[in-house]
Amino acid sequence: GTILFIHCMEEKTFMPSTIELRPEEISTNASTVDIARLYSLQQQYKSRVANTSVVERIKKLKRLKRIFIEHRTELQESMYKDYNKPAPEVDLAEIFVVLNELNYTIRKLKTWTSKHRVGTPWFMMGSSSYVHYEAKGHVLVISPWNFPIHLTLMPLIHSYAAGNVTMIKPSEYTPYTCAVVKKIIESVFESYEAVMVEGNVSVSTQLLSLKFNHIFFTGSPKVGKIVMKAAAEQLASVTLELGGKSPLIIDASANMNLAIQFTAVSKFINAGQYCISPDYIYVHESIKDVFIAKLVDEIKYRYGADDPTRIQGNYSRIVNQMHTQRVATYIEDAIQKGAKLIYGGDLERSKDYIGPTLFTDVTDDMTICTDEIFGPIVYIKTFNDIQEVIDSVNKGEKPLSLYVFTNTLSVKQRLRHEVSAGGMSFNAIAIHYYNYNLPFGGMNNSGIGKSHGFHSFQEFSNAKAVLYQWFKWPAISLMFPPFTKKTKTMIDLLIKLMS
Ligand code: NAD
Repeated sequence: GTILFIHCMEEKTFMPSTIELRPEEISTNASTVDIARLYSLQQQYKSRVANTSVVERIKKLKRLKRIFIEHRTELQESMYKDYNKPAPEVDLAEIFVVLNELNYTIRKLKTWTSKHRVGTPWFMMGSSSYVHYEAKGHVLVISPWNFPIHLTLMPLIHSYAAGNVTMIKPSEYTPYTCAVVKKIIESVFESYEAVMVEGNVSVSTQLLSLKFNHIFFTGSPKVGKIVMKAAAEQLASVTLELGGKSPLIIDASANMNLAIQFTAVSKFINAGQYCISPDYIYVHESIKDVFIAKLVDEIKYRYGADDPTRIQGNYSRIVNQMHTQRVATYIEDAIQKGAKLIYGGDLERSKDYIGPTLFTDVTDDMTICTDEIFGPIVYIKTFNDIQEVIDSVNKGEKPLSLYVFTNTLSVKQRLRHEVSAGGMSFNAIAIHYYNYNLPFGGMNNSGIGKSHGFHSFQEFSNAKAVLYQWFKWPAISLMFPPFTKKTKTMIDLLIKLMS
């Protein structure tokens, strides 16, 4: 493995300053005329869609489910064409995720859309209060390439369930999969309800110049800022599902086998190209050597680079040449600055292949330590006291996820109370994503707003406050002007009761 990488480094030609994407790596751009036409069509229909009955919406979601399942094989094949993603991984990390959320939404939509009664304080006696979730109106969804199926369809499911019309701009880097997702959307939705507009940054920019009521963006913090600025012009609300560096902490009391298994699998699934992939590992100094030795064995067993059949059926490629170059540069930079390559470093540039890679002895100036890795590299740091980890994590941007393997209650408690993160898993990695009851999302650099299940439905809805007053002479009218002696006494009494 190391030999292969060093060979590539010697060539030096494998990293030109600009990399042209192959034609099949870019989807076709929607024309400006199409965008304008589709936008105004949806504008005309947005109240009609907002007023569809829950029965109608559920019927359509069930149809989406049926058609989605019918395309399972096609989706697997297209993801293989896009970046060799193994079919079982497509099932687990894409198909299952969509079905899980779809089933839950179908089951719960009636409850979510009915008015939710809330309490009314005593001084407002005679009235009752409700929250009515109404559609925000016109929604723009912009999605990334790393889970092109569920990160495109899930926001659409919740947007439609909430009664919105939706324009969806997927990533240009997974054209085969997006073509299938587009076909699914077109066979379920009228274009006035939901439409996919394919294209690159210029299409995204055009869409962002239009007035939407809500923008749901999944992607990098850098582009998230562009989206938020555009939204500010229209005062559109935003959900930003961003990324960053998610730490993994393994303390001395951890169940070693469990930690090893989760680490090897969850770091290298999708070749590490996902937002809640552990970016680096903090392992307790006393177990470092055992941990590293076992982790290397486990990686070999799960994804062994020495065994081509295993790699072929179990491991994804990097999405395109540009990202292959980005990740390869991280490896080169780390080695040049003195990091110790413990395992991997294999690189076959023409095939967008980078094998699972492990580093120790890193320094803060290395790009793997400053950037979100978003690839199959992980580096290991050590600690002696959990306080060091708490301080170090809190010093950086708030992570999207934080993972801890420990069997010490006080460590669990301290991390839960003292570290801020979008989400936290103890003795597991990434599987909190599957639970639609948990809000998913980050804070600031890792995101704004929450998704999944009811949390998503809320993002796409305006929580309208509704109050019904039933009395002919409500108590509050005793305090209406003109402020006579009697009204002043009533007001005094009210303040006294509250004091
Ligand atoms: P990206 O930000 O480069 O692109 C996302 C989308 O934005 C694409 O559709 C792209 O065409 C569009 N875009 C790119 N540049 C733009 C610009 N200047 N103006 C307007 N639109 C633009 O992200 P990516 O590379 O596709 O995905 C990787 C990132 O996404 C990582 O940072 C990862 O952590 C994050 N991510 C987050 C989640 C989450 O749920 N929080 C999930 C997956 C990925």
